[in-house]
Amino acid sequence: MLMVPGILSVFGVAFVCAWFIDKKRDYLLLLAAGCGLFACGAMSQIFGLPPGIGPNAVVSGALYTSAVLAVAEGVLLRSQKRFGWRLDVGVVCLLTLALAWFFYIDRNLLARIYIQNFGYGAILLVAALKLRSLVGGRLVDKALFWVLLVFSLHFFPRTLLTVGLSAPVDRITFVNSVFWQALQLSLAVLGVALAFTILAAAIADVIDDLRRERDFDPLTGVLNRRGFEDQVSLLLMKSPRGTTSLALCDIDNFKSINDTHGHDVGDNVLREVGQLLRASARKRDIVGRLGGEEFAVLLPDTDAREAHECAERLRMAIEHGGCATLDAVGPVTASFGVGSLGPKETWQSLYKRVDSLLYQAKRAGRNQTVADELSHRFDRQAEVES
Ligand code: GH3
Ligand code: MG
Ligand code: MG
Repeated sequence: MLMVPGILSVFGVAFVCAWFIDKKRDYLLLLAAGCGLFACGAMSQIFGLPPGIGPNAVVSGALYTSAVLAVAEGVLLRSQKRFGWRLDVGVVCLLTLALAWFFYIDRNLLARIYIQNFGYGAILLVAALKLRSLVGGRLVDKALFWVLLVFSLHFFPRTLLTVGLSAPVDRITFVNSVFWQALQLSLAVLGVALAFTILAAAIADVIDDLRRERDFDPLTGVLNRRGFEDQVSLLLMKSPRGTTSLALCDIDNFKSINDTHGHDVGDNVLREVGQLLRASARKRDIVGRLGGEEFAVLLPDTDAREAHECAERLRMAIEHGGCATLDAVGPVTASFGVGSLGPKETWQSLYKRVDSLLYQAKRAGRNQTVADELSHRFDRQAEVES
């Protein structure tokens, strides 16, 4: 009998521990509260506290309803959604009043069983439907949606099949009834599956955040050097045969922008250039900030001629601006070096070659793209071979 409250208490503690690791995830506290309230509801029923069928039904009912709402709000909050506390309080009051009505005014255990089970099924079903976008997410998000949906739906057939139209007559028959046993089993199996999935989702969220912090530049939102190099290695490993090109970009006279307008404006320029590069690059291109005011764009399946066109498009996007700070500080320009990876060339050698092309663009007067003959020769070789 103490199995369900025992399991729920363990999960409650697990959610609190997960919250201690990352205190900005408040939804974990709601889930812990849900587990705690449900365990209290179960204990109040098991130990008959408060004594008397009526007070016990009303108090345990209020605890169960609050628990279900806390769990629903917890999973919703994880996806920045919510029912809202007014609705929560309204639902707790309504269901508790209904339970009191069907004890004190019109004594009817069958009605109380249906109100609670169908009510909880409905609350969780609405929460699951609000989270249907999770189906398009990661594996753990998909799992969370389906487990929540199955958990919410199971309340309806289980109640119908185990209670039907006649409620158990007294406490002993109630505790030994198929309904109560099936309820304990379903909570132990499906409830635990739901709690495990939510914990897995929370852990996946933390790992994703750590990975994002490790791989992305917080100022511009594009990959940092480490993230960029990891993506490059991954790409070169996955498709070593395609023509890969690299464009390096360095903002012109950036020091004077800092000196004239201040470091904060300089930061905004970097942010807007990062956003422009991301928006103007193709979806499959990989954009990174390698440091200071230097950016890199890796162009998969792109030969030297196409890469030159891409780099020019990016250069012109920066020159034409269209963003608040870029327009305010006057035309901001950037120089580009661009080249393609040769058949036997290493990534390091391509990087050095393109970096020296960028340097040539600077010496030639800035705001221009420089490519080399070697890269174009790779294009001609590829044409001959095909
Ligand atoms: P060039 O056209 O030759 O590239 O000249 P430049 O002034 O752009 O290049 P230089 O290397 O002389 O100056 C780069 C400046 O970028 C110096 C440094 O203080 C500034 N910088 C580097 N990182 C940041 C940053 O995160 N924010 C801001 N605001 N400035 C940065
Ligand atoms: Mg510069
Ligand atoms: Mg520089």
